[in-house]
Amino acid sequence: MASVKKRLPGNVAGEFYVDSTCIDCDQCRQIAPATFRARGEHSIVFRQPATAEALRRADKAMVACPTGSIGALGKRDLSEAIAAYPERVDGNVHFCGFAAESTYGGSSYLIVRPHGNVLVDAPRFARHLVRRIEEMGGVRLMFLTHVDDVGDHAKFRRHFGCDRVMHGDDARFPIERRLEGEEPARLADDLLVIPTPGHTKGHQVLLYAGRMLFTGDHLAWSPEEHSLTAYRDVCWYSWAEQTRSVEKLLAYRFDWVLPGHGPRHHCSSREMHHHLERCVRAMKGERQRSVGNTR
Ligand code: SF4
Repeated sequence: MASVKKRLPGNVAGEFYVDSTCIDCDQCRQIAPATFRARGEHSIVFRQPATAEALRRADKAMVACPTGSIGALGKRDLSEAIAAYPERVDGNVHFCGFAAESTYGGSSYLIVRPHGNVLVDAPRFARHLVRRIEEMGGVRLMFLTHVDDVGDHAKFRRHFGCDRVMHGDDARFPIERRLEGEEPARLADDLLVIPTPGHTKGHQVLLYAGRMLFTGDHLAWSPEEHSLTAYRDVCWYSWAEQTRSVEKLLAYRFDWVLPGHGPRHHCSSREMHHHLERCVRAMKGERQRSVGNTR
């Protein structure tokens, strides 16, 4: 719960504010970019929401914020914002909102499928979200991209009885479907797991329906560079391996990238392939510049 006593000085005057507990996860800036902006190591309100749509988005950011760092001076009815999650991204793929602090505010997704729903990485185990997921058919499988973004996985497992799918090199707790090695593994006709060591040793991505790639912390979209990118400063295992794993994705076609952190991106699969080629070139260039410093 945000505290007005901790209100960051960079907020503009008005109803909404961000307090000093903000962990700079970026969720509010993605959900309500007309209201929130980065300032130093936090987000702030740079413009108060003035339209119904801007207010709706600010409320949704408040619900998604993993640390409860967004406050409002008046009492707000958040029932509509709460009910908005899981929110449809495309087709039967939904963004869960309700980010968990333990994942540093990572994004998680729900794929609604006739043969059983899939939760991609775990959100906060929030009562309203759990009820909505129940109404949408529950969870059959929980795909965990890597150890950092597992969130409240154990609570979701207990509640829905779903099998967790994770690579053995990242599994620090008992899981039901442990994958090993570097060969892609097909969980179902529409679900392909691709091991992508690099960010962590056991990182893996999920290709859904041959077009939507859930990338965890392996690959992200940079609006500034208008390109796919990977983050070397948060590469915990091996940048050389991560570069190789990104290059491996050139063998696949997809038109959506849905990362654990940062904005989602959709374009034609042809354009995405060009973005991926560019990203590989940039990563290799960086590797060459840093020879002797790669892990
Ligand atoms: S969602 Fe919350 S923690 Fe994340 S950047 Fe915004 S205010 Fe900070």
